[in-house]
Amino acid sequence: MPKRDIAKLPEQLRNPMKYRFRSILFVAEGAKGKIDGFTLLCHAPFLKFCFLDYISTAEGKTRGGIGGALYERVREETLDLNIIGLFFECLPDDPSLSRNPEIRRQNVARLRFYERYGARPIVNTAYETPLKPGDDNPPYLVYDDLGQATALPRDTAQQVVRAILERKYRGVCPPKYVDMVVNSFQDDPVLLRKPRYVKKPPVPIRRTTPVDKRIMLVINDRHLIHHVEELGYVESPVRIDAILKELDSTDLFQRVATRHFSEKYIKSVHGSKFVDYFRKVCANMEPGTSIYPYVFPVRNRARPPKELPIRAGYYCIDTFTPINSNAYLAAKRAVDCTLTAAKKLLEGYRLAYALVRPPGHHAEPSSFGGFCYFNSTAVAAEHLSGYGKIAILDIDYHHGNGQQEIFYERSDVLTISIHSHPSIAYPYFSGFVSEKGRGAGRGYNINIPLPESVDGEFYQGVLRDALRHIKRFHPRFLVIALGLDTAKEDPTGSWSLKAKDFEAVGRMIGLLHLPTLVVQEGGYDTRVLGTNAHHFFSGLWLGTYSPLLTLG
Ligand SMILES: [Zn+2]
Repeated sequence: MPKRDIAKLPEQLRNPMKYRFRSILFVAEGAKGKIDGFTLLCHAPFLKFCFLDYISTAEGKTRGGIGGALYERVREETLDLNIIGLFFECLPDDPSLSRNPEIRRQNVARLRFYERYGARPIVNTAYETPLKPGDDNPPYLVYDDLGQATALPRDTAQQVVRAILERKYRGVCPPKYVDMVVNSFQDDPVLLRKPRYVKKPPVPIRRTTPVDKRIMLVINDRHLIHHVEELGYVESPVRIDAILKELDSTDLFQRVATRHFSEKYIKSVHGSKFVDYFRKVCANMEPGTSIYPYVFPVRNRARPPKELPIRAGYYCIDTFTPINSNAYLAAKRAVDCTLTAAKKLLEGYRLAYALVRPPGHHAEPSSFGGFCYFNSTAVAAEHLSGYGKIAILDIDYHHGNGQQEIFYERSDVLTISIHSHPSIAYPYFSGFVSEKGRGAGRGYNINIPLPESVDGEFYQGVLRDALRHIKRFHPRFLVIALGLDTAKEDPTGSWSLKAKDFEAVGRMIGLLHLPTLVVQEGGYDTRVLGTNAHHFFSGLWLGTYSPLLTLG
């Protein structure tokens, strides 16, 4: 690559108007971040074609399959751009155009490589006319229709060739030369050379999700230790399996091992006394037994009961969230998973999902309840807030009272919750419109309580308004508290969202184009949990990555 092309590369990437191409740089990164190769692609959206400017592998890497991997990735990406095909130049294998046998041997290897993909030189034109008479190795123009089996009409080919010569070779090709080459395209449709080296059918484009675009998935692998076996306790281990089973049928996810984090992360949003109490009371429990809070010292906050089991009610908001020997460990592990997923966003991944239980969004600074012990969503948001403004959107059926309380006086963390009205739904005491934040946080908490009956269409309208608030806030990261209990027939809810609604919800959120962490909260109908999660993430992925949706 000539030095001057390298020097202009940053501007070329930043300023598509000047170069009249949208430049896209693909980098193949090996171990320890070493660059193994790259591809520079020029996209002409209006003429609907791409010109492959460079495809290059690092020295000593020519045999490692890097070139093939890069070319295959380029084909896959460009197919999504809705183009007629890929054009590029390749040095000739004709002895009259390439006189040096050593160079010609390399040219043959390259043309054979591209022929495997069905990409062949356009023939019967004057494209390979040397700029200076007598010059050796004037390039062919090669066309790859990306397996779309489209004939290339003459008019289109002429426009494309003019664009390549005028934009790519600006100041190099005289206008007369350009006209001569363009007018030499006479066949309609233009003809490609018959296959010369490869007999097999062209390699098809594999539609897999590239690793860097997958959703980083962190699962609470130790959630099974937390199993409350009372009848009717719907927050059960099978919830995770139901979701995983569906997610595993796609290639949208990349599993990531959970990292360990110190307890100080939990204490960044929860009171030290509460965390210490919770750890201690769990450690003292007999396995298999539960404490249900039964005394609630609401009248005298200054005197927490001395006995640990009795003190449970001092920190709890309801009577159905028991303490057992593993509750601390499971809740701590859920926080570790969520932080691991959050860290992936800091590494540059766009989407991450913490598939965890127990859930966390009802846990406030110093209280647990609603199946929740530690607020994983809030811990992750707090950590990410060290890097920029955060928006938390809670789309569980129940109000996200935990995040609301934790960030109630903060203006750098916007908390929004769409939920069933507290006059009819848990937690009954919060989630009203009038709760808007306090002090500096005034205006940065938005509650959107909805009626008992809500269908998908109505919900999407409400979500659109919520997303508008987020857009105006310009956060650096988005954290979604994902409750799937908004689904039709959920045992804890009353709304009627269906699979396709979850897909639409995911897509709308994806179209914000924010690095997004999704944390699993509620959702209890294990017959449809997996399908609904699958639809939500398909939509989220599509909204985030589909260039057609972006342009539309
Ligand atoms: Zn819920």
